[in-house]
Amino acid sequence: MNDDPRRQLPSMDRLLRELAVALPDSADWVRREVARRVMVEARAALASGARALPLLERAAQMARALERPHPSRVVNATGVILHTNLGRALLAPGAAIAVAQAARHYTDLELDLESGARGDRLESIEALLCALSGAAAALVVNNNAAALLLALHTLARGREVVVSRGELVEIGGSFRVPEIIEQAGVQLCEVGATNRTHRHDYERAIGPNTGLLLKVHRSNFEQRGFVSEVPLAELVQIGARHGLPVIEDLGSATLLDLRAEGLSTTTTTDASFAPARLESGATLVCFSGDKLLGGPQAGLLLGDADTIAALRKNPLARALRLDKLSLAALDFTLRAIAEGRGDEVPTLRQLREPVAAVEARARALVQRLQHSGFGNPTLHATDAPVGGGAMPGFALPSFAVALEAPAGAAGLAAALRHAPIPVIARVADERVLLDARTLLPGDDDAIKAALEAAKRRV
Ligand SMILES: *Cc1c(COP(=O)(O)O)cnc(C)c1O
Repeated sequence: MNDDPRRQLPSMDRLLRELAVALPDSADWVRREVARRVMVEARAALASGARALPLLERAAQMARALERPHPSRVVNATGVILHTNLGRALLAPGAAIAVAQAARHYTDLELDLESGARGDRLESIEALLCALSGAAAALVVNNNAAALLLALHTLARGREVVVSRGELVEIGGSFRVPEIIEQAGVQLCEVGATNRTHRHDYERAIGPNTGLLLKVHRSNFEQRGFVSEVPLAELVQIGARHGLPVIEDLGSATLLDLRAEGLSTTTTTDASFAPARLESGATLVCFSGDKLLGGPQAGLLLGDADTIAALRKNPLARALRLDKLSLAALDFTLRAIAEGRGDEVPTLRQLREPVAAVEARARALVQRLQHSGFGNPTLHATDAPVGGGAMPGFALPSFAVALEAPAGAAGLAAALRHAPIPVIARVADERVLLDARTLLPGDDDAIKAALEAAKRRV
């Protein structure tokens, strides 16, 4: 009992007194929380036979992380426009203003100004979505995972949903199609093989307990080689023959035809135009607000009037509803798209920016960093995926500034992440690449400052 290694640990009171000296500038709540966390961590380490940790050092590290407001601004120098770890789509400046207005003032969120009676918070967003997509009806919820959950729960609870094995995807580590299906109270009926699913696979699986047919966009990977899938239009025919609704989870989709923007290099680009998917006959399509659409986190559902009415009536819809701040941002974003002001939407502008303009930005940064102390910064032609589950297998051409790092590229990349405004870069061939496609006005100052700080670290 006496040789319990945990007896080596100081008492909580003593640790707090030591932290008051070691972290004099930290707030009380930070010291208390850090003390609790290092004790938990140290007890676990000792119990598993690991060496006792230097408590104060670990506490200082944790305090630094806790003291940073979260989320904080970083520079996205990865070239990935919809980077999940960096918060996906940027909002248009006008959308950010709309959010601030809705946050700081009372609004007519659920008030009909005409009659003075209670209003519908989603009516005008539904009108915008219908006008933009040609859908008969629309609904928005908190995110696309919620949209899919609501759709499955409303239309197929207690029944079976038929999905191809090639589409049971995981996205971002926390979203798995089979798990959402299970949570919706629906039974998963997998058909086909990982690489190939045929018409007759669906036909054979359909029985008296089938509730609907589901198609899921693969989003973050691409299948090549000996592959085959049943196109949406054919799935719709099968559904019609058996009287079954067909839902398509598009993941990342637009309400603008990017094919008209010269971005039609892959068939997956074409598959992300939501109105065309509806036209193919899907009963319902759903997709994210903060991927290719370029708005806030949200889940958008487009479909026929009866289906959308059924979704609205489901009590789950209330639990999954969109908050007023996101609603304000989405409203601005959809109006901008509907009124031909798509260039105000950062995602669309970034996607459509000609590579020559990206190159000019990279060249200017090469000049700016000439004497930064990291070898000779050079211009480097590159490309980057769009990210956010959009356009798998497609890379946008881009230009980067390549930095040599004599002490190791990974070390320099880490030092850039520790700057006051962290810079998130790519590492390739032992060089750090700062991709100019995702750089914003002012980012060059932040990069310069981060390199100064890195010089002192590495
Ligand atoms: C991203 C994605 C989701 C999840 O969307 P969120 O808005 O992040 O909840 C669901 N399905 C597919 C196919 C996706 O690509």
